[in-house]
Amino acid sequence: MTITSTILNTIPGNPLDGLRYADSRWSRLRQPPRHETSVVEVSATPLTDIDWDMIVCGGTLGILIATVLVQRGWKVAIIEQTLLQGRKQEWNISRTELQVLIELGLLTDGELEQAIASSYNPARISFLGGPDFWIRDVLNVGVDPFYLLSRLKQRFLQFGGCIYEHTAFQNLIVHPEGVAIQVLQPQALTLKTRLVLDMMGHFSPIARQARNFQSPDGVCLVVGTCAQGYTHNQTGDLLVSFTPIQHQCQYFWEAFPAREGRTTYLFTYLDNHLHPISLEFLFEEYCRLLPEYQGVELSQLQFQRALFGCFPCYRQSPLHSPWNRILPIGDSSGNQSPLSFGGFGAMIRHLSRLSEGIHEALTADVLDRNSLNLLQPYQPNLAVTWLFQKTMSVSIDQTLPPNQINELLSTVFQAMDELGDEVMRPFLQDVIQFPALYRSLQSTGLNNPRVIARIIPQVGIPNLLDWSRHYGILGLYSILSPILQKLSPITTKLSPKTRYLYHRWRDAVQYGSGQDYDKKT
Ligand SMILES: Cc1cc2nc3c(=O)[nH]c(=O)nc-3n(C[C@H](O)[C@H](O)[C@H](O)COP(=O)(O)OP(=O)(O)OC[C@H]3O[C@@H](n4cnc5c(N)ncnc54)[C@H](O)[C@@H]3O)c2cc1C
Repeated sequence: MTITSTILNTIPGNPLDGLRYADSRWSRLRQPPRHETSVVEVSATPLTDIDWDMIVCGGTLGILIATVLVQRGWKVAIIEQTLLQGRKQEWNISRTELQVLIELGLLTDGELEQAIASSYNPARISFLGGPDFWIRDVLNVGVDPFYLLSRLKQRFLQFGGCIYEHTAFQNLIVHPEGVAIQVLQPQALTLKTRLVLDMMGHFSPIARQARNFQSPDGVCLVVGTCAQGYTHNQTGDLLVSFTPIQHQCQYFWEAFPAREGRTTYLFTYLDNHLHPISLEFLFEEYCRLLPEYQGVELSQLQFQRALFGCFPCYRQSPLHSPWNRILPIGDSSGNQSPLSFGGFGAMIRHLSRLSEGIHEALTADVLDRNSLNLLQPYQPNLAVTWLFQKTMSVSIDQTLPPNQINELLSTVFQAMDELGDEVMRPFLQDVIQFPALYRSLQSTGLNNPRVIARIIPQVGIPNLLDWSRHYGILGLYSILSPILQKLSPITTKLSPKTRYLYHRWRDAVQYGSGQDYDKKT
């Protein structure tokens, strides 16, 4: 019997089965592209009796956008294959980011306070052989998904929204006037809508088809637990590594106080789908290394729950729908950084932009794919993070000095630490800005050119050239963003359609340069 099965068997709810199911998904993703069932068809025949303005397939984060839109007067329904109720494990985020929930009228001040289940300070960043860096108020707040989703559900229903629970999306047909969605309830049912939001997560069948069933370009595997019995549970770790490269993986750790104990994660980036590591193997590694990481014996701990996930990422992100009237949002769109598994945080960051954009698209009736894809625009600040993920992972056929990744990260974080909070803070919140990136690179290059030079063979010249292109565009976006903001007031005179297009370009440049962050902090 493995340590994994011994521990997981002590936790109610069969987490071992869940871990193995997640592994089977990961294993399917690793196989070369093959045909899976197509769920989207296009038809030129007219569609009549359209009941809904928008149907959201997948309710976890879908309820956020659905509630904003229903409050603005649109007819909105949600299809959720299970119960729309969230999960026990908190979502970690920074407190300032949550203000948008109040601004959009989703929560009152009091409800937001209640939704915050835990908070701590400070958090550490540390790599083997290097110093510790400390930061305050970053990803240090835990939001209770159960509470948040139940409040939103109530508000959504109050405003006339409709939720189909235990209702699984089956397939859909895109017609010129709308979309007919087939669901299984258990009886089959057809729902007709002007717009579909695909919010069915990383393994959404719509997103899989839109990506031609392609294997991901990178993956982040995460395993962990929430447990009681730790002697120290006041501070957290945002990014810690205390081992050299092992099994062609650099292991990273995260730890923080949670309402029901202390959460600890082990995660690793795999740069391609050929990597043989499974989640179950990684869980065994987690059990082996946890005592050394946290200074506890496993026997001291009372495990409350097991946590795991496989986060595929694709270079072609955010995903652009090849079909009219379908918009991928949330994990299905891949609009979060490949460095982070903070999809809730990414959704909160883009909530105001996306909900305003969808409202304008419905108003101007611009639901063709080109117009909708402007809502998930190219973001150079997201594109540059691909190289960072590459520097934090080892290819299956690569031999790197065992401490290369730790040395690089120590050097980069040293430079960011010296440049101050305004550089370190947005980076840790997944927001890359040109001035901060430029200064960090300059400082790292000057202080330790040897470490930087070693990246070149690790990531390869084509990746570096590709990165330089995104870096250049990031610089350009940073110059353009304030200019486009200044022009915003004159757009009131434009037609709804032209205004929609202008606003999307303005938003693309603002968010793509990370300047939305400055507005919110
Ligand atoms: C272990 C772990 C820890 C995490 N920690 C954090 C964190 O601290 N901070 C953070 O920001 N993020 C965190 N995340 C990520 C976050 O949970 C996800 O990014 C977020 O849940 C994505 O939401 P989503 O609605 O896009 O997709 P999902 O959460 O995958 O939800 C998809 C929804 O669609 C439904 N669905 C799927 N198929 C169908 C179908 N055929 N018909 C109808 N409904 C369907 C599912 O039931 C589900 O409700 C964590 C994730 C994991 C796994």
